Amino acid sequence: MHTPLTPYVEIAVALPVYPTYTYHLPEEMRGQARAGHRVLVPFGRRRVTGYILGQARGAQPPSIKDVLDLLDRENLFPKEMIPFFRWIADYYLYPLGEVIRGALPSGLNLYEYNLLAINAQACDLPDENTLSALEREIVACLRKGACRLKDLENHLDRPVPGALLRAMENCGWVVRRKALRGARTRPKKAVLVRRRAAPPAGVRITAQRRAILSLLASRGELPLKAIGKEIPGAASIVRTMARRGLVELEETTVYRDPFGDPILPDQPPALTLEQTAALRQIDAVSQKGFGAILLDGVTGSGKTEIYLQAAADTIRQRRNVLVLVPEIALISQTERRFRARFGERVAVLHSGLSTGERLDQWLRIRNRDAPIVIGARSAIFAPLDRIGLIVVDEEHDSAYKQETGLRYNARDLATVRARMSGCPVIMGSATPSVQSYFNYQRGKFSRIRLSQRICDQALPRVTVRDLRAIQNERGVRKYLTPDLLDAIKETLVNQEQALIFLNRRGYANYPICSACGTTLKCPHCSISLTYHQRANAYRCHYCGYSRSARATCPQCGSGKIWHYGLGTEKLEGFLRDFFPQARVARLDRDTTTRKNSLLRVLKKLRQGQIDILIGTQIVAKGHDYPNITLVGVVCADSTLNFPDFRSGERTFQLLAQVAGRAGRGARPGRVILQTYTPAHFIIDAARQQDFARFYADEIKYRQELVYPPFCRMTLLLISGRDPARTAQVARDLGRRAHATATQLGARRRSLHVRGPVEAAMYRVAGHYRWQILIRGPSAAGLNQFVSQLLFGEGPRYERRGVKVFVDVDPLFMM
Ligand code: ADP
Ligand code: ZN
Ligand code: ZN
Repeated sequence: MHTPLTPYVEIAVALPVYPTYTYHLPEEMRGQARAGHRVLVPFGRRRVTGYILGQARGAQPPSIKDVLDLLDRENLFPKEMIPFFRWIADYYLYPLGEVIRGALPSGLNLYEYNLLAINAQACDLPDENTLSALEREIVACLRKGACRLKDLENHLDRPVPGALLRAMENCGWVVRRKALRGARTRPKKAVLVRRRAAPPAGVRITAQRRAILSLLASRGELPLKAIGKEIPGAASIVRTMARRGLVELEETTVYRDPFGDPILPDQPPALTLEQTAALRQIDAVSQKGFGAILLDGVTGSGKTEIYLQAAADTIRQRRNVLVLVPEIALISQTERRFRARFGERVAVLHSGLSTGERLDQWLRIRNRDAPIVIGARSAIFAPLDRIGLIVVDEEHDSAYKQETGLRYNARDLATVRARMSGCPVIMGSATPSVQSYFNYQRGKFSRIRLSQRICDQALPRVTVRDLRAIQNERGVRKYLTPDLLDAIKETLVNQEQALIFLNRRGYANYPICSACGTTLKCPHCSISLTYHQRANAYRCHYCGYSRSARATCPQCGSGKIWHYGLGTEKLEGFLRDFFPQARVARLDRDTTTRKNSLLRVLKKLRQGQIDILIGTQIVAKGHDYPNITLVGVVCADSTLNFPDFRSGERTFQLLAQVAGRAGRGARPGRVILQTYTPAHFIIDAARQQDFARFYADEIKYRQELVYPPFCRMTLLLISGRDPARTAQVARDLGRRAHATATQLGARRRSLHVRGPVEAAMYRVAGHYRWQILIRGPSAAGLNQFVSQLLFGEGPRYERRGVKVFVDVDPLFMM
């Protein structure tokens, strides 16, 4: 099927270098090697991993180096993805080899290790007499077989100096090889047990056997493990029963629901008129090829059902489907519903998987075993070919933006990948991003609007309460209006559930010395520490720094510290005291560090074992719990006051999402929104749950100040441990940016450089940070400008421990 490569191949190496390189492919590899393969190549004095991109073009000089080894038996990604990777590298100004390395499952890198071996080809093996004692031992050990440095040191029971090994390598006695350990993980298997229809007569039915049979009679077939949970020792009994013909066993591959419940297959419902029209519209786009569609409809309006049916249409045409969801939504409904509809045809990629499981899923996709991939942000790199549909659910969610390393936006890349695949991309949201809605208004996206909820539930009623009215109260009372407290009480009386949203974890975020008034700050970051009561410690939420709360004021030594500010932990304590009979739980990053604790709390919530749930953003997204009838937003202003032009947009989305948690069941819901700025247009739009109103005001403000979507932005972040040197690099780079902009002035009048300025978070984890913000009318112009600035003629800026990071289309500018 594929044509063998000619001897010269283009390779991207997994190093921070920008060009690609040509290597020579030895005869014996040509049959097997193809685009998408990992290889081992010499690079300078090292050997590094590289990725075959394809045939090298043009005439090749004779001195080209050989590819040393093929690292995989099969290619890890289809060659259709190579243009996609190239696009990413160009657009985000990031080394191509690093783009590819980051896209591949990290489990692969774990399986890679250095192996030391005696060089079998060496013509002059060492004369034992000339060797030192240690060298002799090393040679003796390696003669028994190649091994890792760690094993060698264990065997010799002492460290082996790197210099010694290198000397032995230079003599040609020892070679260092990269080796790959094969994928060790396999799909999970389970044994299913079911009753035999006609059991043979005369088999003795003991009490235990009877118990097992009646369990199977009432619940149908069951995994052996599940039986074992109810009837101790069942495993061996069941196996005997199988031998006697009472039950039959079947080994199957299992996929478990994150809640541990079985997923029952479901059937597509008959579509509503709106949904039918929507699918017809998607199909029309699909006939033409590429097209971006904004699917906008409140929660419960049937968006997911549209994804499901559009996906079914797509796989019927033998094309593949990629579904992106924010990380947290995976845990709730979307994955579950796709599995219920498509069973084993679904592969899942998200950070909850172990590296082995992730690799498994990756290989299943690449082997074309799963035509539907659903996953979080990084699933945009899933090794699918022949993509026929891409879905981005909750497209407004900022979790699609990667904030370290390759700073990509998966939502934007979804459009790029769809264009390259010639297929539609559907972007769904109840609160579309300003960017996407603008694209619709400018005719770049088409739009499908779902105006009604399927079950005709009313949207919750939102009341705004002014926090200024209680600002003279003491302690937590300053943050809880009597109306909110009354509403919670009423909810408890009705045996319904309340969700209290507070966007700040910990106990108190303003620890202040009572003697001298000093705020306790993180020694590594420019931010105050947060007091955590249960841990009895002060912690920094940016770098993880922690110090015991028994410590004294660093300024005056006083031991008395006041804990001002309100965090979820303090709020939880207060509500527990205030409603002693209520079952109160808290969800935030502190309570969900342990794996599965998030799922445990959500499960308890679903089973009605929690009356009041307090939480941060985690509770805002996607969960669907019918018995929540009250949502309280403690302080709507905390995100609104961020020094970032998108803070209004983010606040509106957040408020709308939290409000959407109320009244998902038969009973109507209500929302109490507390704020210090009840007149703010964002608060008012959120109160009316009026996206159009929010958008109309917001877009006017963006246009006046020429912010996106009326311009493109690239942020340069200059960061280093030495404040003076970092400032120097920032100033040098800034000066050149201004000069270059002026030079180009005639042609690109609207290119605009701001900075360098100290970042709003000037210091994080001991690094000093500066920013230069560049704005321009077009992405291409900006890209050209920044690449000329960073990679053109002139001195390099990254030096002496100062780094320059490029953030194209930045979302957070702290
Ligand atoms: P959204 O994704 O917009 O929140 P869903 O697709 O989850 O909406 O639909 C909301 C609820 O309505 C779900 O319980 C879903 O199963 C149900 N539903 C969706 N479409 C239909 C339909 N055509 N007929 C009956 N029930 C439907
Ligand atoms: Zn003090
Ligand atoms: Zn810190």
